[in-house]
Amino acid sequence: MEQLFRFSKKRPYQSDMVNDIYDAVSRGNDILINAPTGIGKTDASIGAVLSYALHNNKTVFFLTPKISQHKIAIDSLRGIKQKFKLDFKYADIVGKQNMCINEKVNSIEGESFYSACEHLIKNSKCPFFSKVKLFKPEDDATMLDAADLGHNSVFEESYNQGMCAYEVSAKLAKNADVIVAGYSHLLNPYLKQAFLKKIAHSLDDSILIWDEAHNVLNAANSYFSVTLSTNGILRAMRELQSIGNAMDLGYLKFALDSLAKKKLEKLDEAFVAKDELPPDILQNANAIISQLENAALEYIEQSKAKRSATMHIAKFLNEWIQQGESTASIISRFGSSVKLSLTCLYPERAIPIFGEAHANVFMSATLLPLKMYSDLFGLEDAKLKSYGSPFPSSNKLAIIDADITTKYQERSVEQYKRIAEKIIRIKDSTPGNIAVFFPSFAVLDSTFRYMHDSDIYIQRREMKNIAVESIIKEFQKSDNSMLFGVMGGSLSEGIDYENNSIKGIVIVGIPLTKPDLELNARIEYINRRFSGKGSEYAYTIPAIIRAIQAAGRAVRSENDKAVIVLMDRRYKWSMYKSIVSNSIPVSEPIDYIGEIKRFWRMQGVK
Ligand code: SF4
Repeated sequence: MEQLFRFSKKRPYQSDMVNDIYDAVSRGNDILINAPTGIGKTDASIGAVLSYALHNNKTVFFLTPKISQHKIAIDSLRGIKQKFKLDFKYADIVGKQNMCINEKVNSIEGESFYSACEHLIKNSKCPFFSKVKLFKPEDDATMLDAADLGHNSVFEESYNQGMCAYEVSAKLAKNADVIVAGYSHLLNPYLKQAFLKKIAHSLDDSILIWDEAHNVLNAANSYFSVTLSTNGILRAMRELQSIGNAMDLGYLKFALDSLAKKKLEKLDEAFVAKDELPPDILQNANAIISQLENAALEYIEQSKAKRSATMHIAKFLNEWIQQGESTASIISRFGSSVKLSLTCLYPERAIPIFGEAHANVFMSATLLPLKMYSDLFGLEDAKLKSYGSPFPSSNKLAIIDADITTKYQERSVEQYKRIAEKIIRIKDSTPGNIAVFFPSFAVLDSTFRYMHDSDIYIQRREMKNIAVESIIKEFQKSDNSMLFGVMGGSLSEGIDYENNSIKGIVIVGIPLTKPDLELNARIEYINRRFSGKGSEYAYTIPAIIRAIQAAGRAVRSENDKAVIVLMDRRYKWSMYKSIVSNSIPVSEPIDYIGEIKRFWRMQGVK
C-alpha cells in the first residue's frame, strides 16, 4: 500500500506513528497517541488515515478545538493531492458564525446568533441561504479551487457570489473524502445529527482524527454547562419590557433569591436539586423556552442587539430540564447577584460518538496518562502509543527544585521570599528571557511583592485577550525580561513563543484546583463511574498536565534551547514524577544554578 505523505522525508518517530495509525485504523481499532511537539502529528495522522480511507471507502474527519489548527491540515491535504496527483476532495468547515455573510445577523453573539439564523431560514428570509440551493459544486471550478485552499477562500468566493459560505461548505463536504471541522460539529449532540444529515455522511463509515485530544472532554462538558444569575434575569426583564412583551420573569428571580436565602445563610455555595425550582417552571418548561426564544429574537431584531439575556435563560432552562446524574447544580453569590450554575461533570451525552465511528485517532502532546484518556473516552481495546521527542535531548535541561513547595499549609512570607530569590538567581544565570508560571494569581501576587526587578510582564486576573496579546508581543521583543503568568491560562497553553524567545521556564508549585463543591462533585462522579479514580482523574492529573503544558512553551523547534525548573518538592513524588518524566526527563542536581550555568556554557552561549 502506497503511503500518502506530503514530504520526501519523515522526522524521527514520525514513521512509527504513521505505521501505528495505519495498523490501528485498518483493523477498525481506536488509537490514542501522545507525541511531543515537533514530530509532525498532523501530517502523520492525515497521511496514514487517508492511505487507508481512500482505498476502503471511508470518510475522514479531522476535528480540532481551534480554527487556527485547520490551516496545517489543509496544507497537508493539498500537499498530498499535488504530490501524488490524486483527485480526492476535501472540505474545510468552521462554525456558522464565522461563515455567515448576512450582515443583519452576523454580529449577533452566541446562542442568539444560531436562533436568529434558524429563524431567517425557516421564514425564507435569508437570500444568501436561498441562493445556495442553486449551487452545484461540480459546475463551479472557481469554488472548487477555493475549497482546496480552505475556509477563508471559500468564504471570499461565496461572498463574491452572494451565497452563505457555511451552506456552500456543507455542500462541498457532501462529496468530500476528508472534512476538516471544529469539534463541536460532531461532539456536540445538539449539532451532530443535523450536521451529518446536511453533509450526507455516516459515522460508521468514518474515521475521526481528534487533534489536541486532551481538550475533548472539557469542550464536550462546556456544551452542557450554563449559568443563570439574578442580574441576567433583570436584564432579560428589561429586554421584554423594551419590546412590550408581557411575560413576567419576576417569579424566576424570586425563586433564585429564595433559594439563596434558604441555602446560603451559613455557606458560600450549596447544591440545588432539579425539583427545587418551582414545579410550574419545570412542568411548563418547553412552552416557556419557546416563548423566551421568540421574545429574544424579537428583541434582537428591534434593538439590533448583539446578544440577549432572554435567549440565555431559554438555554439555561433547556439544560436544567435535561440534567442527569452527570451534572452538578450549585448556587452561590456573585457580588449583589445570585448565581445558579449547572455544570457538566462528565459529557455522557457526547461520548457515544466514539463508539459510532469506524475508528478514532486521538492525539496530543499531553495525552497523559494514555490509560486515563482511554477510560474517560469509554474505549475498550484501544491502542495506546507514546513517542519520544524528535528534538535533541541536549537542547533542554529540566530540573526539580525540591527545596520549595506551594502546598497550602506551608505557604508563608518566608516561602514567597525564597521563591522570589530563586527566580532572580535563575534569571541571572540565563542568557535571555524567562517565563515564570504560578499555580494561582494569589501565589503570583504574593511572590511578586518580593521581586525587585521592574522588567516583568505580568498577567492580571480577568485580563482581556487584547491586553494578553500585547504582553506577549512586548515580551517577545525583549531579550532580558521576565513574564509572570498562571498555569492553565492563556500565556501558558496553546501559544508558541517565537524564535526561542524564552530561554528559561520556572514552574512554581502545582496548579491544583481550589477545592469547592464542583470539584467534589466531579471527583465523586468519576469515583462512581471509574472505580475510585476520581481524585486522580479529576484533580491530580489535570494539574500536572497544566504544569507540563506551561513547561512546554520554550522548546518549540529543533533549534530552541531552554532550561526548565519545576519548583516544588511534590514533583519528586512517584505519581507526579512518572507523568512529568514521560514528557520532560528531569534531574535533581544539588547545585542547580551551577548546572544551569554549565548548560549555557555547553551551548556556547555564556
Ligand atoms: S443562512 Fe448563512 S448567511 Fe444566512 S443567516 Fe444563516 S449563516 Fe448567515
